Amino acid sequence: MDILNLDYFNSSIWDSPFELNNDIAPCSICKKDTSHRLELDGSIEIIYKGIEVIETVCLNCLSERKYGFEHQVEGGFLTKDGILTESEKYKFLKNSDDYSLLLQPKEEQLLTIEKSKMDNLIHTPPFNAYQGARWLIHCNDFMKFIGTWEHDDFVKHSPNNNAKIFFNEIVDNWNGDDFYDKQFGPNKSKYAESAFYAFECLHCKQQRGYVE
Ligand SMILES: [Zn+2]
Ligand SMILES: [Zn+2]
Repeated sequence: MDILNLDYFNSSIWDSPFELNNDIAPCSICKKDTSHRLELDGSIEIIYKGIEVIETVCLNCLSERKYGFEHQVEGGFLTKDGILTESEKYKFLKNSDDYSLLLQPKEEQLLTIEKSKMDNLIHTPPFNAYQGARWLIHCNDFMKFIGTWEHDDFVKHSPNNNAKIFFNEIVDNWNGDDFYDKQFGPNKSKYAESAFYAFECLHCKQQRGYVE
């Protein structure tokens, strides 16, 4: 299993949209087909300064920072024009009752992150997620994506071998008391389709994640 080990991504390359496959055209930037590649289909936006049309990109060109990715992050978006907070993009959010309690602190936290860290995340591949990758934040930095977890992963990482308690402690979007049992536990529903994206803080090692 190939591991992609970057500051903000440490997981199997299978968790990224890049593939090494002869069916994929050569990279539009370097014209080579030796590195893992990604055919852009409109669901993932890249940041590229050249004028030619880019249909396929490769991991090698990403590591050489020839292009980057727009990313959704906690509190907003990293775009080719800089940070866009969630409430700048969706203005109605400012009118919601819990804006100042929930979203505004996240937006303020995002706005304090150093530019070099944004540059670094822009040059990190997204991870595969149903609705697109969203990076969480901790200690004034983006967190490292460390994989899509299942029950065994919660057991392995929980300090006291209680996967359910650990899940409830680290999940960002809590969905109710029996959610873990139904979606991830050893006796989960056969209809369980939720995915948990796990992150670790680069600084304090705190783990967090969110469910889709
Ligand atoms: Zn390339
Ligand atoms: Zn931290």
